[in-house]
Parts: sequence; structure tokens; C-alpha cells
Amino acid sequence: MMPQTTAAALPFPEPPPPGAAIEVAPGVLWMRFPLPFALDHVNIYAIDDGDGWAIVDAGFADDTTRALWDHMLAGPLRGRPITRLIVTHHHPDHMGLAGWLCARFGLPLWMTEMEYLYGRYFLSGTEAVHGQFYERFYARHGLPAEYADAVVERGHWYMEQITPLPNDFHVLEAETPLSLGGRSFRVLKGAGHSPDQAMLHCPAEGLLLAADQVMERITPNISVHAMQPEADPLGRYLDSLAMLKAVVPEGTLTLAGHHRPMRALHARIDELAAHHADRCAIIAAACADAPRSTAEMLPLLFHRKLDLHQTSFAFAEALAHVNHMIRQGDLEWVSRGEHWRMRTLRGAGGR
Ligand SMILES: [Zn+2]
Repeated sequence: MMPQTTAAALPFPEPPPPGAAIEVAPGVLWMRFPLPFALDHVNIYAIDDGDGWAIVDAGFADDTTRALWDHMLAGPLRGRPITRLIVTHHHPDHMGLAGWLCARFGLPLWMTEMEYLYGRYFLSGTEAVHGQFYERFYARHGLPAEYADAVVERGHWYMEQITPLPNDFHVLEAETPLSLGGRSFRVLKGAGHSPDQAMLHCPAEGLLLAADQVMERITPNISVHAMQPEADPLGRYLDSLAMLKAVVPEGTLTLAGHHRPMRALHARIDELAAHHADRCAIIAAACADAPRSTAEMLPLLFHRKLDLHQTSFAFAEALAHVNHMIRQGDLEWVSRGEHWRMRTLRGAGGR
């Protein structure tokens, strides 16, 4: 189930063809790089930085993306150098080739502190993303053991698709404006999809690089991981949507990490918040009559058939809703031993 953005506010309805760029604002280029997943592309932006281009996000670490970088530099980027690399968050579709690009061109890397450190953490490999504690985490919430094994294997392969990061970086901080070429951006940060995702807002021009926080057509994955099994990333995500609505005006040209630019930012934020409220209502109804596990919520929340990669995301997302509802007092745990189950408080429908 993927809510749709109000169609009227799409200023560039056609994405750039492979290998091309669209100038979405003066000196701001929108490029699309492929991904080997159901979500088959990631957006990368080039912003005029005086002596060359500041690049926002690096793409997935595969040979297709490496070859496309060569093509982009010679083609749409007109042979001008890259001045710096800004990475919005540590996920492999955005940070995958960051280390490769920085090493190749001697680029300074700009990230929020938390996203950089998470990137280093996932680069530590086996211990970070495999291990028995992951299997226990899945089993506790009702995923069968053999299935949990496969999800651990496949789902976390994804997190290791990162080229080694530079040892030093520049911190993107909310208090410090970022000058790129003649533009001054303020850094906004949002949690939920990733711990401390960076967004860049240029109020003077009505421009927002929103990363994966607000996108047309899809909702960003909001995940609970084994490392913080009782975290409430959905609560933090909803807080960040409220922050964006408060500080970024409706009509702002919003350039996201996936799909097309849009202007109906506030309308989209309202759709996203409503989408999560609907999902909470489904869980509340399902847990009204008898205690249920989080794994039992998956077929209720996701109607299409999920492969292993998608299942790891779907499970993490279902648990994000459950944990949020526990915090809100809409659900309570009825057993927290080997198998965790929850039931609805305040009657069916919850909220
Ligand atoms: Zn993404």
C-alpha cells in the first residue's frame, strides 16, 4: 500500500533518461542511478559549487553505478570537477560508493556525525549485522527460525554494500549554514528512516533536498533493528514530519532520494502521517480480540508477496508501528519471554 502524491504538484513529471540529467533549478541537476532492487533507482543531485559540483549522495556500490559515474562526469556534468561529496544518510543506496568517489577524486566527505558513525559500524561486518542476537530478535517476535536465518543472511548482505569510508569527514550541523556556490543552505536533520538524516533547505530559493524523509509515491521504511529492539523510530519520524511542516513552506521545490520532485510538501506530509495512522489502526484492530505477535501483522500490513529482502524491511517496519503504539499506550505487551505478543488497549481501533 503506497499513498499517492497529489498529482498537481509535480513540476518535472518525467524522470531523466538513464545517463542524462535535468536542471531542476539554476545550477541544480537531477540524475537517476539504477538499483538492483524492486525500488530500481536512487536520485543523485549535483549543485553548482563555484569551481565544480557538490554532489549529494553517491549511489549503490556496484559496477553499473561505477561505470555510470564516468559517463555522468563526462556528459551531463560537462567535465567539471566534483568539489565535495555530501551524503544524506548511511544506507547503501545513498552511501554505497561514497568511499570510492572520495578516494578516486580526493573529495572531502560531508555527513552528519551519527550517519557517518553508523556507516563505519555497518562496515565492521559480521558482528554488526549477523550473529545470534539477530536470530533471537526475530524469533522473539514470531518469525520462524529457518526464515529468520534466511532474512539475516539476505537482508543484511544489503547493509554491507558500502565501500570503505574516508577516515575523516566534515560534520553537517543544524546550526551551521552550508554555502554551495552562491547559495546558503540550512541543514535540517530528521530521524526515523535513518538515525540522523541530513536535508538541505535553501529558504531564499524555495528549495529542499529532502533525502528519503519525504518522497512522492513511497513511504520511507521506518525500521526497528536488533541493536535497539524497543526503539520508537516511528515516533521520531512523525516528529520530523511535524518539524518540516513547521519550518519549510508549502510550495517548496522538494527533491527527494527517490522518485520525482514535488511542490506539495505539506500535503504529502499529511498523507504520510495518515498512512502511518492507518497502519496503527490495522494493528489495533488485529490485536483487539487476542494477543498477537509482530510477525502475524505482516500479511495484514503488506498485501503483496515479499521476497527475503523485502521481508526484512517489512518486519522491521511492522515492529516500528508496534513499538510506537506501545509507547503511546495503544498496545501493551502481554508476554515478554521467549515469544512476545501484544494486545490492544482502549478497545478495538485503538486511537
Ligand atoms: Zn533511499
